[in-house]
Amino acid sequence: GDTIGILGGGQLGRMLAQSAASLGLKTHIFCPDPASPAFDVSDTFTVAPYEDTDALDLFAGAVSVVTYEFENVPGPTAAHLDARVPVRPGVRALEVSQDRLSEKQFLSSAGVAIAGFADINSQADLDAALERLGGKGVLKTRRFGYDGKGQQMIRAAGDAEGAFDKLGAVPAVLEQLIAFDCEVSVIVARDVDGRTACYDLARNHHENHILKTSTVPAGVSESTASAARAMAEQIVTGLDYVGVMGVEMFLVRDGDGERLLVNEIAPRVHNSGHWTQDACLCSQFDQHIRAVAGWPLGSAERHSDAVMENLIGEDTNCWERVLNEANARLHLYGKAEIRSGRKMGHVNRISPKAG
Ligand code: ATP
Ligand code: MG
Ligand code: MG
Repeated sequence: GDTIGILGGGQLGRMLAQSAASLGLKTHIFCPDPASPAFDVSDTFTVAPYEDTDALDLFAGAVSVVTYEFENVPGPTAAHLDARVPVRPGVRALEVSQDRLSEKQFLSSAGVAIAGFADINSQADLDAALERLGGKGVLKTRRFGYDGKGQQMIRAAGDAEGAFDKLGAVPAVLEQLIAFDCEVSVIVARDVDGRTACYDLARNHHENHILKTSTVPAGVSESTASAARAMAEQIVTGLDYVGVMGVEMFLVRDGDGERLLVNEIAPRVHNSGHWTQDACLCSQFDQHIRAVAGWPLGSAERHSDAVMENLIGEDTNCWERVLNEANARLHLYGKAEIRSGRKMGHVNRISPKAG
């Protein structure tokens, strides 16, 4: 039968492998870290650097399609594999989303609303851009930022001084500082025939720059929800994307209106979509496997209300309590070592659909 190759062995790879198994498919995980939580549940795994072309060739020969669970797969790795076996989502989606500048350029060319931004390669660029954006902004490295790392808020004149060097003097973007009401996200999927499916909007709450909870329904108007779906579909269609994508957005309320700005996209299953495991018949993980395997998409309909809570670091203390909650489903990633800020698991609390 078919074997799905997965680059990356974290919890997202683990849950993808679990979904693949439940659909009768095999998985082969490729990851340099021998302690990867995904290895426990995959059929086969390879421990090798992403630059090891011999290992990549063996991997490509053993799978029918390759997907990935993190967006920082080196470009040459994806291109090397793509010459041998389909890589889904494609190499372009990966390249665009690895670099905040190319991501923003793509989003604006696709007609998606985003915050104003500027390309920053020096302190002089930053000073000039701040003048244009009203003296405030968020300076972000173009590559490798996550959980708010590689970012600096610039709210007052003093914050800008030396900010480019403090960030590491690497290529960056400055974004307009958005006074948002809340953060929401959409999980969208697209199949090989170009059909799309969107899950309901989730409202996301962060603590210490790490996602803490995702709540559905998100409590937004139907017109806002439909605008969010339309933007998500425009993005995946514009990238000729195959698979699941997470689209993070800011909800801005001004006067009596609501509007959405896309913050960033993740070319993979997304933490803010974990609620779909227990509130939909087809989870985002099932959906991604179906899409990359060339199968038709499942329904993204939600049958329950849900709150997903991430269990981070020492939050593991609550496992026992969660096990006694009737409406809670506990998902643990089997990580041996608890570290502060490390995602150890999550819990989905489910209730009958109210709205
Ligand atoms: P992730 O872990 O989601 O990949 P990240 O490090 O890539 O995070 P962003 O999502 O770009 O970073 O930003 C992190 C958080 O910082 C956002 O969730 C939001 O709360 C805040 N933030 C980012 N950009 C802006 C902005 N332009 N205006 C106001 N707040 C912002
Ligand atoms: Mg990010
Ligand atoms: Mg983000």
